[in-house]
Amino acid sequence: MKPTFLIGCHLSASGGYTAMAETAVSIGANVFQFFTRNPRGGAAKPIDKADVAAFTSYAAANGIGPILAHAPYTLNAAGAEQRVRDFAEATMEDDLVRLEETPGALYNFHPGSHVGQGAEAGIDLIASMLQRVFAKASSRLGKISTTVLLETMAGKGSEVGRNFEEIRAIIDKSGLPLGVCLDTCHVWDGGYDIAHDLDGVLDTFDRVVGLERLKAIHLNDSMNALGAHKDRHAKIGKGKIGADALAAVINNPRLAALPFYLETPCDLQGYKEEIAFLKGLRK
Ligand code: FE
Ligand code: FE
Ligand code: ZN
Repeated sequence: MKPTFLIGCHLSASGGYTAMAETAVSIGANVFQFFTRNPRGGAAKPIDKADVAAFTSYAAANGIGPILAHAPYTLNAAGAEQRVRDFAEATMEDDLVRLEETPGALYNFHPGSHVGQGAEAGIDLIASMLQRVFAKASSRLGKISTTVLLETMAGKGSEVGRNFEEIRAIIDKSGLPLGVCLDTCHVWDGGYDIAHDLDGVLDTFDRVVGLERLKAIHLNDSMNALGAHKDRHAKIGKGKIGADALAAVINNPRLAALPFYLETPCDLQGYKEEIAFLKGLRK
């Protein structure tokens, strides 16, 4: 049996969970991503229990698939300053505790930037922070039902997670059941040619990380050339990866059952059109 096409996009969380799910349905989406709090960090809004309850029944009635919570992109678990690392740690612990209100969610974060300390030091800092976060959150919650995902990065500046080996190293050093979110723009900018050798890239991912750890795809075109290490997302079919290659991504038998989240430079109407376009390309 063919898997359901799980497709959606990044949405504003300002109206709460139910509003996001209704917006998703209104644009033809059945999954969505949102920031857990202001992308620059800061306190999250208190959880509205009535909203969570309404969302849970609405999601079940409307076939909403896994929701993907994205950590603020300013979190840096690999920062050089203790203050920066403490902020990342406290924020992630708080996010994991809050996400248990919607059990079984995915939680994605950018591993961090080593800011000159070197990738190996960055990997050590990220892995040890994750261990403390998991220990503290699970002692508060009993168990964690959220799956925490490392996002594959473009390798801009001193980003950690610039290749599959660095992702694997974080998983191994942490010893935690982490998953991975593969961002098509980031891996392209990182030098993995998904436009001409998708199966080769997936073979490499499987060998280095393990495809069983791949839990989500950020579906983006890229403004930049293969290996540019820049990270600028383009609309589907308007970048260097191209619509044909992204159609191959959503139809690849090793990826087709995963949820796909658009993070293209679109407004809601633009996302609605991209979702319709991709549904037309889905086999
Ligand atoms: Fe991201
Ligand atoms: Fe992304
Ligand atoms: Zn990006």
